[in-house]
Amino acid sequence: MLNLLNVGFSYDNTVDILSDLCLSVEEGEVVALLGPSGCGKSTLLRLISGLLEPSTGSISYDGKCDTAFVFQEPSLMPWATVERNVKLPLKLKNNIDNQQVVDALEAVELAGFEKRFPEALSGGQKMRVSIARALVAQPDILLLDEPFAALDEILRFQMNNLILNLQVKNKLTVLFVTHSIYEAAYLADKVFIMKDGMISGEVTPQLDRSLKPDEQRTSIEFMNAAKQIAELLAGEVV
Ligand code: ADP
Ligand code: MG
Repeated sequence: MLNLLNVGFSYDNTVDILSDLCLSVEEGEVVALLGPSGCGKSTLLRLISGLLEPSTGSISYDGKCDTAFVFQEPSLMPWATVERNVKLPLKLKNNIDNQQVVDALEAVELAGFEKRFPEALSGGQKMRVSIARALVAQPDILLLDEPFAALDEILRFQMNNLILNLQVKNKLTVLFVTHSIYEAAYLADKVFIMKDGMISGEVTPQLDRSLKPDEQRTSIEFMNAAKQIAELLAGEVV
């Protein structure tokens, strides 16, 4: 669905942030991106969303590929209700479809919260509104930049399961940046490790999704994936 071939990028034409980067994302996949701070993960998401253009190489999509972003900060409009916050992307496109708002809120399990204001929501609920706002325009690929880093572990687990449910129910394609080895091992079909502006390794966790979440999190496949990711991050050859 999405193919990056030998992508290079520089903000100022002197320092290469990305060089010769190759990766692919298939439709319906959840893909994680891990790497040290400053290695270019957010830059890569901006390139994929079209906010930036690669300096070299190519980014190609099969058919159309609308993207939507979720950031660590839910950044909701405090003066607007949940419903109006979620509706914003449709309004900006001049294409309001109230059913899409209803569907997006239902997808994040917030039906009934339409008239609430952000101040009356918990941290996890705000994050779910932020995800609904990203889903409302029905993007082909959801890009999340360290979305759950500020949440406590219990909430983070809930959000992880929400993303998995969305993938199954809405056949969503997801690319997310995380600093958590466990989050990557649990959520992703494919984990890319980034180093020095390139992809330095790839891990495919292959968890058995027919198991319950806590069984998946204690499975051999999960442990192996976490170990492989940790070793790649540490620079060891697996
Ligand atoms: P990561 O998300 O992996 O932490 P970033 O993609 O944010 O990394 O940043 C990669 C590099 O690009 C860093 O060295 C950062 O300082 C630089 N950088 C990020 N944004 C800009 C910008 N708008 N202009 C110039 N340099 C930038
Ligand atoms: Mg970043």
